[in-house]
Amino acid sequence: RSKELGRGHHQFFRADMNQRSRERVQLINRLRRAQEGGELSLHYQPQMLLSSGQLKGAEALLRWQSPQFGSVPPDRFIPLAEDSGLIEPIGDWVLARCCETLRDWHAAGHTQLTLAANLSARQFRARNLVQKVAAEIERCAVPASSLVLEVTESVLLDRDGLTRDLLFGLKDLGLRLAIDDFGTGYSSLSYLRRFPVDILKIDRAFVRDLGKDADADALVRAIAGMARALKLTVVAEGVETAEQAALLKMLDCDYGQGWLFGKPQPAPDFARLFMA
Ligand code: C2E
Ligand code: MG
Ligand code: MG
Ligand code: MG
Repeated sequence: RSKELGRGHHQFFRADMNQRSRERVQLINRLRRAQEGGELSLHYQPQMLLSSGQLKGAEALLRWQSPQFGSVPPDRFIPLAEDSGLIEPIGDWVLARCCETLRDWHAAGHTQLTLAANLSARQFRARNLVQKVAAEIERCAVPASSLVLEVTESVLLDRDGLTRDLLFGLKDLGLRLAIDDFGTGYSSLSYLRRFPVDILKIDRAFVRDLGKDADADALVRAIAGMARALKLTVVAEGVETAEQAALLKMLDCDYGQGWLFGKPQPAPDFARLFMA
């Protein structure tokens, strides 16, 4: 009897797996056409100077509105884009759009604003990444210093030395590099000395427990202290409450990003809300 039950469970599990992998293949096929179909867009989330509440710039976050699947969250489709290689054309498109947005902001007189784009590990395997970024910056005639590229710690494992060359190549263009989701990766901190990093983005997992958990406070304080010693800028992610913002300011974090300040929005809404 228990054997039967076991087999039944097994079959159920297999059917579920098949369903999931079918869905996966379907999503990849749809994603392949999404870019041309205009289903991809960027939303912009504000980043504020914690000491004054002044707008510093934004992070560009990819959105996929599929006629078939509805709104697909990036945590679902970015991994598929990475596995299938689609992240390369999509990533190129993101970079191009970001430079165009910066051009628009500059044309409107907001030359002090920065814009951060996310780069996935897979994009670091394209050898012409530096040339691509340089070409977009030039095409849009925006200062490289307005552009921030966010990478996760996993990019910095640098198994072959190529990553180091790429990061220095990007830095030489004059842009800034941020470590995204800082504190959640598995890499050693030694990369902070080896690579030309400018900004640490404290993962929202640490921010969430601020004020509730003494360990979370201690961690954020330690990260901010280390960042200051290394002359790095700190951005806190996932700031949802005024209490968190006040604590982050007290703990010497420079910038905050999160729902307290604003959710990611399409460019026109962002401009209307934050750049008036
Ligand atoms: P991320 O780069 O760490 O982006 C921050 C995520 O936190 C975003 O999720 C944002 O909407 C969310 N967030 C911001 N403020 C709050 C808050 O106060 N509370 C909570 N709970 N969440 C907040 P999103 O937009 O779903 O993006 C998820 C991830 O997908 C990003 O994490 C990034 O790793 C990836 N991603 C997004 N756009 C791109 C892209 O253009 N290229 C690549 N390679 N990855 C991207
Ligand atoms: Mg990011
Ligand atoms: Mg992050
Ligand atoms: Mg993330």
